[in-house]
Amino acid sequence: MVPYYPKNGWWRFVVRSVLRLSDMDGKNKTTAYNDGFLKNAQAAEGMKKSTGLRPVFIDFNRFNFKTAREQGKMLKVLAIFIRVIRGIFKARNIYHQEINTVKHLNTTADDNFWDSVRRKGNELGISLIGFAPVDEKLMCTNDQFGHITRLYSNAIVLAWEMDYNAIEAIPGFEVGIDGIKTYAELGDATNALTEFIRKQGHGAIACHPLGDVIILAAMGVRAGLGTFGRNGLLISKEFGPRQRVSMIATTASPLPPPDKAIDHFQDINDYCSKCGKCIRSCPSGAIRETPLRIDAYDMMSCVDAKKCIQYFYEFNSCGVCIKTCPFHSLGYDRLMRHREVPLAAAS
Ligand code: SF4
Ligand code: SF4
Repeated sequence: MVPYYPKNGWWRFVVRSVLRLSDMDGKNKTTAYNDGFLKNAQAAEGMKKSTGLRPVFIDFNRFNFKTAREQGKMLKVLAIFIRVIRGIFKARNIYHQEINTVKHLNTTADDNFWDSVRRKGNELGISLIGFAPVDEKLMCTNDQFGHITRLYSNAIVLAWEMDYNAIEAIPGFEVGIDGIKTYAELGDATNALTEFIRKQGHGAIACHPLGDVIILAAMGVRAGLGTFGRNGLLISKEFGPRQRVSMIATTASPLPPPDKAIDHFQDINDYCSKCGKCIRSCPSGAIRETPLRIDAYDMMSCVDAKKCIQYFYEFNSCGVCIKTCPFHSLGYDRLMRHREVPLAAAS
């Protein structure tokens, strides 16, 4: 325990204050954010806007940091939180600059440009990069920290591998910290790649991995990084469900052509449809046996997000649905090599 650390200490005050400060549109938790940062309506013409999708609000005040205090890890937690918040604020600043600058909505990009984006992404440590048009139906009305309400039409979707050993250590407090650290690292890399693209003369808006601008996993699927698992997560061949996702919306056009066949992930879908291990092991019963269809947005909802986040409030971390997925524990290659092995044996 850190002796100078009062129960409702300064760190909680700092984090709460920063988060409140971020709510500078003056909207409350349940209200969709407006275009509070938009000062030049002409600049936003032709940009994409949410058609009404509302994600579940995450109340950071409800997380319980007792274990961190008891283990004397609060300074570590605080340092990671500050890095995350700094990344979100940086993304928000970029958005302010973009949203108020009148741009040509399509800036021509050739193969050399896209190659340079891939190279820079790799340099920054980004594990996977894909491309897809932005779908307004996947955009959310209440991006609670960044307050991003408009996006350019094209998306560069980024994935960052989470540490294998950290996932293996689930459940545990350290895993929660590592999860937040991954958000911070990917957030910083996303901002850096966004600045790189802006310097080439294209409009670009960073969507931080901890933001609610758009359903990032769905954009990952659209961009050909993987497919949806029954746990509602992006499952890639490289890492299974073990990655965080972020995005950059850009004016750069045309996007590179898709490099994967339509049925590229069919074997994962087939396996997943018979497995169901994450459903059985979810401690809060949040993963639906039969996904809920949401007609208005033409999408399926695999996870009851309220049940899932409630579990996070109580225990500070989870990720059991990542750890138990055979595409994490065994990996795609081993699973497919032994496809004839009965599912029970594989698990
Ligand atoms: S994170 Fe935990 S509670 Fe949430 S869906 Fe996955 S297993 Fe269930
Ligand atoms: S645990 Fe099984 S059912 Fe769940 S996402 Fe992974 S493969 Fe699919």
